[in-house]
Amino acid sequence: MTWSKLLPFTLLAAIACAQAPSSKEVESVYPEAHDFYLDLHQNPELSGHEAQTAAKLAGRLRSAGYQVTEQVGGTGVVALLKNGPGSTILLRTELDALPVEEKTGLPYASKVRVKDDLGRDVPVMHACGHDLHMAAIVGTAEIMAHSKGTWHGTLMLIGQPAEETIGGAKGMIHDGLFTRFPKPDVAVALHVSNTEPAGMVSITPGIYNTNADSLRITIYGKGGHGAMPHTTIDPIVIAARTILALQTIVSREVKPGEMAVVTVGYVQAGTKNNIISDRAEMGLTVRTYKQDVRQQILAAIPRITKAEAAAAGAQREPTIERYEGTDLVYNDPALAERLRAPLEAALGKDKVVTAEPIAPSEDFSYFVEQGVPGFYFSLGGADPEKFEQSKAAGTLLPSNHSPLFAPDADPALHAGIIAEVAVLRNLLNASPNELHKFSAEQPSH
Ligand SMILES: [Zn+2]
Ligand SMILES: [Zn+2]
Repeated sequence: MTWSKLLPFTLLAAIACAQAPSSKEVESVYPEAHDFYLDLHQNPELSGHEAQTAAKLAGRLRSAGYQVTEQVGGTGVVALLKNGPGSTILLRTELDALPVEEKTGLPYASKVRVKDDLGRDVPVMHACGHDLHMAAIVGTAEIMAHSKGTWHGTLMLIGQPAEETIGGAKGMIHDGLFTRFPKPDVAVALHVSNTEPAGMVSITPGIYNTNADSLRITIYGKGGHGAMPHTTIDPIVIAARTILALQTIVSREVKPGEMAVVTVGYVQAGTKNNIISDRAEMGLTVRTYKQDVRQQILAAIPRITKAEAAAAGAQREPTIERYEGTDLVYNDPALAERLRAPLEAALGKDKVVTAEPIAPSEDFSYFVEQGVPGFYFSLGGADPEKFEQSKAAGTLLPSNHSPLFAPDADPALHAGIIAEVAVLRNLLNASPNELHKFSAEQPSH
């Protein structure tokens, strides 16, 4: 290799190394971040009700020197740290927990129970790891505030409510996230999971997850006596036929090879064995990668459902409501590749891997859809020893949302802080022009 080829590479590696936080920097903020994690874990709050969580996060960021605005789109928090001219980079954490009863047996396990929006008594647990994301962002915030000589521009940290119910990102945007505050040049987020051991991160260039649509179908029949079916129109029989016919969308209508899932997740009808119900309800989730496939499926579902009801002679057309939907998260491959270097320099080359897209969805896509290129990556959360054991045994560790989900907090939180600082310093050394070459949009097929 000649010097001319070697030099740019060594130079890039040297720059990436300089952007990694030192262990002294990390250790100086770690104990506080870890305390915060334990506090959040024991005091989880449901989506849209993150008042205490938001107040605690806002308080920590304010005392770190950030200019903090609360109640943006509900309980949302926006914290700005201005450091001269340059780019604006957004880093997001979620605030919410889930109605799950914690069964990890950890000394700091949540015992919280609350009344949910329907008035039911439910357990609450940070079963998706958003507590770890908040703790990481607080550690990162401190390091960035103490090292203003290593970056310039505007750092924008946000605490987003209601990620689990897919409404929080939209709420913040509608409340002026990108008009009352600077519009970022790039938006960054991470998510902890058990698919990698703690200490590692994974990058997914391009499509990160799926478009997700939630549908509720109500089929109307004619109720009556179970022994006199000729006087009724049985919605359960219509629902059964509809469920089977819906299976042909993916198997017969969508082009083979396209990512498509149509799942009927629940069916509810009837009260007693000898009564024919007058209605049946079912709930569906639809997952896709491509917009045209998504539209094809969303058009096929009502066509099939209405036709099955008509075939049975139902007097009233079924109702089909799409009550929730979110687009997939897209990582511009060039941006993901740019950020691989600082992550490798900070965590070690063998600690950064490339991962396949995943199926669960996320409302981070709302930020990207405002024209802000995004970098969404995964943070390993599994205890490395348990990870190896489960791999050898061919079993899987508890996934996010499980009552047993328990990230190996120490190495995962360390890696989270290190990764965030490395990524932010890299982006906050780039000019807005340099970042504008990255795209928020998935190229059309
Ligand atoms: Zn979740
Ligand atoms: Zn989550």
